[in-house]
Amino acid sequence: MKQIDYRAAMDAILPSVEKPARYVGGEWNAVQKENVHTRIALCFPDVYEIGMSHLGLKILYKLLNKPDGWAAERVYAPWPDMEARLRERGIPLLSLESFTPLNEFDIVGFSLQYELTYTNLLTMLDVGGIPLRSAERTLRDPLVIAGGPTVYSSEPIADFIDVVVIGDGEETFPELVSRYTELKDSGDLSRDDVLRQLAKIEGMYVPALYTASKSPHHGLLVVDEPEDKTIPFPVRRRVVDINKYPFPSDSPVPAIETVHDRVSIEIARGCVDGCRFCQAGTIYRPVRERDPKEIVKTILNGIESGGYDETSLTSLSTADYTCLEPLVKHLGEELERRKVSFSVSSLRASGVTESLAREIARVRKTGFTIAPEAGTQRMRDVINKNITENDVMRSCSVAFSEGWSAIKMYFMIGLPTETEEDVRGIAELGRKVRELGRREFNKAVKVTCSASYFVPKPHTPFQWCEQEDIESIKQKQRLLRELGRQYRIDVKVHHAETSLLEGVISRGDRNLCKVIERAWRLGCRFDGWTEHFDFDKWMEAFRIEGVEIGPYLKEFPVKESASTSSPLVQLPWDHIDTLVKREFNAREYIKGIKARISPPCELPVKVIDGRPTAIAPSSDEFERVASQPLLCYNCGLECDLTLSREHLEKAYSMHVEVRTYAERTAALKQETSPLIQIQKASGSGKTSADKPTSQERNALRKYRAVFAKLDQVKYLSHLDLTRALPRAFRRAAVELGYSQGFHPMPLIQYGPALGVGLIGENELIDFESPDELAEPDFLKRMNSVLPPGLRFNALEKLTAGAPSLIKTVNRAEYIVQLDAEEILAASRRMIGSEPLFSSLHKHLIDAFLSTDSFILERSHRNKVQRVDVRRYTIRAEVDETSNHLRIVTVISPNGGIKPAEVVAAIYQLTSQEMTTLPSRIRRVRLFFDAEQSVSSIAPAAGGSSNAYGQINGVA
Ligand code: SF4
Repeated sequence: MKQIDYRAAMDAILPSVEKPARYVGGEWNAVQKENVHTRIALCFPDVYEIGMSHLGLKILYKLLNKPDGWAAERVYAPWPDMEARLRERGIPLLSLESFTPLNEFDIVGFSLQYELTYTNLLTMLDVGGIPLRSAERTLRDPLVIAGGPTVYSSEPIADFIDVVVIGDGEETFPELVSRYTELKDSGDLSRDDVLRQLAKIEGMYVPALYTASKSPHHGLLVVDEPEDKTIPFPVRRRVVDINKYPFPSDSPVPAIETVHDRVSIEIARGCVDGCRFCQAGTIYRPVRERDPKEIVKTILNGIESGGYDETSLTSLSTADYTCLEPLVKHLGEELERRKVSFSVSSLRASGVTESLAREIARVRKTGFTIAPEAGTQRMRDVINKNITENDVMRSCSVAFSEGWSAIKMYFMIGLPTETEEDVRGIAELGRKVRELGRREFNKAVKVTCSASYFVPKPHTPFQWCEQEDIESIKQKQRLLRELGRQYRIDVKVHHAETSLLEGVISRGDRNLCKVIERAWRLGCRFDGWTEHFDFDKWMEAFRIEGVEIGPYLKEFPVKESASTSSPLVQLPWDHIDTLVKREFNAREYIKGIKARISPPCELPVKVIDGRPTAIAPSSDEFERVASQPLLCYNCGLECDLTLSREHLEKAYSMHVEVRTYAERTAALKQETSPLIQIQKASGSGKTSADKPTSQERNALRKYRAVFAKLDQVKYLSHLDLTRALPRAFRRAAVELGYSQGFHPMPLIQYGPALGVGLIGENELIDFESPDELAEPDFLKRMNSVLPPGLRFNALEKLTAGAPSLIKTVNRAEYIVQLDAEEILAASRRMIGSEPLFSSLHKHLIDAFLSTDSFILERSHRNKVQRVDVRRYTIRAEVDETSNHLRIVTVISPNGGIKPAEVVAAIYQLTSQEMTTLPSRIRRVRLFFDAEQSVSSIAPAAGGSSNAYGQINGVA
């Protein structure tokens, strides 16, 4: 089947699936390449909305699309409804950029963030036409690779992956692609030879080259050292200087709302804190910070390039970013002018200063979130969360004083050595925060305590711990809920069975490959989604495969014997070297059990309230303690502490610069920021921030514009469109008027919603702008920044007091293809042949029009609604020349009908046919009754098909 056929085949199924825009690509900034030699599929085993939010894939997408001849395309997991449709029609899983089947790529790379997406990985391989197991693949199949945090303990998927990439992908991934292409092109190597060569690249783990045997110490399979000494053992992680790889500012702009629908930028990788439960803290060590100037540039470019009105800074512990305050201060000023909101993820309670909170509050969008992780000081010391209750209360106090009234706090239950007092401590802390808000700030405060179920993760100091029994966890959850009711705080707990399975798989061995495949064959999909998770099926899979879950949850022995010189027991993931020594983790484990803390490394330390406390450059104390020796725990990474000190000094001078700058700007408002070099918007020659605000202008002008929604864009919902168009205005630097109030909204009024899947040839919007807009310039600017399929065709200025769109439009005209598969099928049922004769069409239409009423039942979310289709149909007629059915319906504030319902009433379509028909329908005109035109730019009666030039000669 050719590419064009896949698009047509998808058109037949897309109207019948949830959120079809997930599968059609064509987003702004999506990369389309020609003359491609090497195709790389970047796969994310979850839905589009989650995959599109992942920052790592954005970096790789940019990086791998850079070289000539390489094309990186995106593929996400099909939701179960889509998987079923693809299988029914025999359509393979396709990439979003070129609709290429997964098995036609050279390399298929998965980003694995969560163990409960493994069944989706199998779905993607299977629907993509790739054999599930590495052993079943040949050189004609793509090379299946995987990276991401879960691959540091990848034995449960070892049978399915050809090459596991350990470490930062910026260097390893391109190196792997180059080497693989070279080896494959040489043409005289076997697949085994190719895999052996790839295993020699630093950071590559090729599971097929390693065997596994049962450990006498815990009974699980551990990976054996290969006899071939050219195969690495252990496989060492690769670490890169992230500043060599700028974060992209031109990633594809999602078509539908995603989990993080904003310009997000990774400001640092790694974390200075040594939380003993945290895998990310180990596998991303040491901390590496991006240059603050580059961060500002990337964010402002990202806003200009994507048209976003929201942005966020992310890292494992954003408050630890040494230049956070200067960065937030500069960004805050720029973003406020651009009406762009701003959030900061993963704030540590001790890192929230008053001035930081004030800056975030200026342009905030989100609630205030901190992660104390545990409810008592003893428990926080066990896990090495270096914050105190005072830190939490001080941060919340700052938040309340800056206007927040909702505080969310993250905790864990089931931690090692936990007692009932520690669990009660969570609710107690929530109560104290609520009291603080009510008593000190006189606020109606909402406090939410979210408690997850601790999973002992590989490569952490707590990797040896038992995962607490599920019944005992449920009891703790009940206790927390009860205390939450008493203290009037919201308590949220995680689904216990999901976390239990996550624990089993994350500490799993190679034996779990067969269990995962079995669970998938039993129908497990999207296991991270509560509505899909089926614990019973998973337990059945374990039972069928004869694998017990108990051994994966129990405590592991640390040493092979009681002797102090005894070696550490090998665990199923110890053939992967994170560069952090196993001995370091063992030492931290023992310190943890004794509730002894280890302050963050690479920072000067001062004893405060009897506790060694790390002092960051943002602290007023910094200058006094800066000369003290920096801490290093000899974790294995061998950081250069001279460089660390230089870095801290630079960060400190930036803090000082900002303080000075703040003083200077207070006196001289016009001074230019030393940090920010604003990028000019392409085309307009100026940024939206350069323009005066609407308040500085005269009255806003009102405009009406006609646009077309064609091709794949027809699968955007009305809601998606209300997100896409304001972004396009921002990209085009066409300034919009904004409503007043706390959350100013762009002043755009949309015409009547167009159903998902229908083409709209002459859709309407009204908008207000402070600018005097000329049609040719408006069309040029807008059309240069719209994704394929969206296009503005005309603009007119409305007179003051002109009636709104809602009052102007009350009719819609549609054209339906009479050779649509659904109508032909109905005709076969009625007269046993096709095509229908024109007289019969007329007869059926006349029969429908002659009735007073035709009631159809609509079902939506378990509700049935009866609608009179005839009452809302003004006209229906056949155009014999073009073989079209032309329908005119009423649009009224009380409701209306869908054109597919009129066709269903005339031709007695089944509900399935009615569902898939919309992709053959076009809305050609919106107008006012009595054939009065909506405006001079709207098409006249008998409107155009695709020729925009016919719209009264305006376009
Ligand atoms: S080498 Fe020392 S300073 Fe570097 S991450 Fe490890 S413990 Fe911290």
